[in-house]
Amino acid sequence: MSIEELYQELLLDHAKAPRNTGKLTPADADFSINNPLCGDRVHLYVRKEHEGLSLRFEGVGCSISQASASLMTELCNGRSLKEVARISALFRKMMQNDLNEQEILDLQDAAALAGVRKFSSRIRCALLAWEALDRCVERVK
Ligand code: ZN
Repeated sequence: MSIEELYQELLLDHAKAPRNTGKLTPADADFSINNPLCGDRVHLYVRKEHEGLSLRFEGVGCSISQASASLMTELCNGRSLKEVARISALFRKMMQNDLNEQEILDLQDAAALAGVRKFSSRIRCALLAWEALDRCVERVK
């Protein structure tokens, strides 16, 4: 199985069965964002806990937007605000440029979304949840 096929399977799996879904109450920050071009919507909830951030989301929309939200929450749960901000910047970078090996490792399974940048109309779908994350990080601080 090629890396592309593995990534494809991973994305489908997250789109079909998104992780960390639902409301988080109480939350320290939440942000709802939509992508009218595709009909995607992500509502992200963030709570700052002792051991790191806790993230959950409610969403509807295309496979890419929902898989991205799921992978994002999986990658960021339990991390510090600073770490999450770094990872979010890395993800944005990936949507524009090639990453080095270490950066790809840092993004873990979320690196599976790298192929999306070939389809410029879908980049917005992939970034939607991460934009909500940035807004929440600003508010939690
Ligand atoms: Zn979409």
